Amino acid sequence: MDLGIAGKTAIVCASSKGLGHGCAEALAAEGVHLIVNARSAGPLAEAAQDLRGRFGVTVTDVACDVTTPEGQAQVLEAGQGADILVTNAGGPPPGLWSDWDREDFIKALDANMLTPIALMKGCMPGMIDKGWGRVVNITSQSVKAPIPQLGLSNSARTGLTGYVAGTARQVAQHGVNINNLLPGIHATDRANALDGPVAEAKGISLEDARKLREATIPTRSYGTAEDFGAACAYLCSQQARFIVGQNLLLDGGGTNFTI
Ligand code: NAP
Repeated sequence: MDLGIAGKTAIVCASSKGLGHGCAEALAAEGVHLIVNARSAGPLAEAAQDLRGRFGVTVTDVACDVTTPEGQAQVLEAGQGADILVTNAGGPPPGLWSDWDREDFIKALDANMLTPIALMKGCMPGMIDKGWGRVVNITSQSVKAPIPQLGLSNSARTGLTGYVAGTARQVAQHGVNINNLLPGIHATDRANALDGPVAEAKGISLEDARKLREATIPTRSYGTAEDFGAACAYLCSQQARFIVGQNLLLDGGGTNFTI
């Protein structure tokens, strides 16, 4: 299917690897020019060069911490006039409800709620002027089904979800669609970081911890960055015109509910 977005420009945050990279790759495959971002310049430059080489699109790499106001300004400057925005950043650490104080919450809210909001505020006026735009926020399955040890993530991402629910309905009349993509477990460094403590606690290998978790997923497998990127590219397509303010869960059926 031709998604009808060749020649458009997308900002894809936190995209040198993992789910952000999957989104960047799927958009590049559709002929979308990219502004990619990560904190470590070397791996980001390599990823950008690889995407340019394989897809022939323009790729501008902006090495910065997107959760800081300075980083957001850098990304927005490089992505002036962007048609598509994919927000993403690393997730907060796991823990127990009693571990976290105000500063921990402020950090999580800054990274996973206020950063996407600032980027949307930066990009959407230009999209509204053009009468076309797509925003995809990478959140988490924890928005629909809280993960007890990810209290910081649950809090910040649910706040973002509330903001998007209202804002998406304010901007849709201008051809700007905001939706959220909710990853369940995907095979990335983040998955290893979450499986590591389980392996340690049970005295088993990382591979065995993963097998245990895979057995709980109806597909019996983790998602991949490619699976995730394909869904992102679709939400950025012309065909997604009527999809507004939705929370699409990609979890291999792992979360049990009827609707
Ligand atoms: P990942 O494999 O660890 O990749 C993270 C990417 O983001 C890297 O390119 C990293 O590069 C970049 N990054 C991290 N923090 C950044 C920052 N502050 N500024 C700019 N770039 C940053 O993570 P992932 O699995 O793709 O996860 C992406 C998001 O989805 C995270 O918020 C995660 O919590 C959430 N999520 C993931 C899963 C899963 O199973 N993978 C499930 C639910 C939710 P640098 O390190 O060089 O900055």
